[in-house]
Amino acid sequence: MTKNVDYIREKARDTKVIRHADVVVVGGGPGGIGAAVSAARNGADTVLIERYGHLGGMGTGGLVTIIPQLCDYTGKQQIAGITQEWIDRLITRNAVDMPKKEHWGSLDKELVRYYFERSFFYTRLDRVVYAALIDAEISKIILNEMVEEAGIKVYLHAWGTEPIMEGNHCKGVIIESKSGRQAILGKVVIDSTGDGDLFPYANIECETAIPAHFRIANLAVCFWVAGVDYKKAMDFRRNNMKEFMGLMRKANEYGGQGGFMPSNLPDQESVMWFHSRYPNKSQIDVEELTRVEFLGHKIAGKTIEFYRKNVPGFEKAFLVLTDPQLGTRSSRRMVGEYQLGKKDLSDNQPFKDTIAIFPDLDRGQDSLDHPNMYIPYRCLLPKNVDNFMVACRAFSSDLDVQDYFNLIPHCIAFGEAAGAAAAMALQAGVGIKNVDIKSLQKQLVKQGVPLPDVNKKVDHKYEGPALVGPSFTPPH
Ligand SMILES: Cc1cc2nc3c(=O)[nH]c(=O)nc-3n(C[C@H](O)[C@H](O)[C@H](O)COP(=O)(O)OP(=O)(O)OC[C@H]3O[C@@H](n4cnc5c(N)ncnc54)[C@H](O)[C@@H]3O)c2cc1C
Repeated sequence: MTKNVDYIREKARDTKVIRHADVVVVGGGPGGIGAAVSAARNGADTVLIERYGHLGGMGTGGLVTIIPQLCDYTGKQQIAGITQEWIDRLITRNAVDMPKKEHWGSLDKELVRYYFERSFFYTRLDRVVYAALIDAEISKIILNEMVEEAGIKVYLHAWGTEPIMEGNHCKGVIIESKSGRQAILGKVVIDSTGDGDLFPYANIECETAIPAHFRIANLAVCFWVAGVDYKKAMDFRRNNMKEFMGLMRKANEYGGQGGFMPSNLPDQESVMWFHSRYPNKSQIDVEELTRVEFLGHKIAGKTIEFYRKNVPGFEKAFLVLTDPQLGTRSSRRMVGEYQLGKKDLSDNQPFKDTIAIFPDLDRGQDSLDHPNMYIPYRCLLPKNVDNFMVACRAFSSDLDVQDYFNLIPHCIAFGEAAGAAAAMALQAGVGIKNVDIKSLQKQLVKQGVPLPDVNKKVDHKYEGPALVGPSFTPPH
């Protein structure tokens, strides 16, 4: 025990088992949705445990309502599957905005300017790309429908607090909720908490240090401001850039936040999105989380005060919502069977066990030379536990990979592969580490997941026009 730290010893107790399932997914964010829906659709009796009252994680409660990086620089869609289904369902409800399909990959300067002004996320590497701005509230409804239709048993308002371990086997999880402390047993357990909350008690090797210069080192309190005169605000920004930038600087000096992005959602023109970067000691330290919540709310208050008085178009604006879920970019990262790392960023060859392709759009010329990142199944598997998977931003990766590839569609893709693999392994009566990879890949393709021909050598050479402007796009 650590010196100068008090401990208490808790009593051993009997805990009621409330459910037996095939697959238990902890965390209902992008990774957990992908995992649970995919497992259930592939025939597994599936339980999904979520600590808040809604599904979607950062993509809804964190007000990170941007699904980016869906096509590569040529405009070819590389992430689809459950992500595309979510977007398709949003389209039917008029609750999403994105560049037109025929414009993905376009270098046309007028189009690029048009889309860039609508959203920073619609252009990359001098061209238009496929990214979607989504409605968080409608998404919550859609995700509920998707898990209901798949027949998943969902427990909301329940924290998964501890894996139930027997040697190198995870028998299930302890949950804590208003109903008390209960146990749910499962044949495969998937950690989709984003933070790898189950790692410590399962002794899963992980890394947590994040030097301050990484994007993912920062927490965030995102918020929406409504009641903005869109045309006035955007015209002012477009026609008075210097003055606008000066005002944004002053907003920061005042203790508020400079910079915003229009929601772009149909019939929601008056809504602007603010997001932030707050350095911290750790994104899983409860005192830090509390400090940043207080700081973020204070800054949101100062922001609205300043903008109402000073920024054209914001005279009648009001703070409509701060994120119900603190913006967490990264915390624990598993060191699993394969740790994706810096060297993989400059490799164009798919792994034999590739389960997803992530377009690489944020690294300037490097992205043109290495347009896609291939994701091996092994980066979802810990070394030491035989029936446990990680399907969220805590996947096995180093900081360089994590900084670019832990986004919403990425996590859904991890989940979609993990869920299918878990169900298929159970059906075949084998462990998840022995699942037949070719069958898994075939199944994923059937689910609409773009995958490469893993037997074909990729011979890529960028021959398009040279990049104009900064060769590096700062990521989210
Ligand atoms: C400010 C900010 C801006 C970002 N910008 C973008 C962007 O533009 N586009 C993009 O795609 N990505 C962006 N990201 C990254 C992206 O939001 C996350 O990486 C992604 O949501 C991770 O998905 P996840 O499923 O791993 O984790 P999360 O989204 O964090 O979901 C985890 C879920 O698990 C639940 N949970 C956690 N612990 C437990 C527990 N112990 N028991 C039960 N439930 C639990 C949480 O409540 C949550 O619902 C941004 C992130 C932040 C913070």
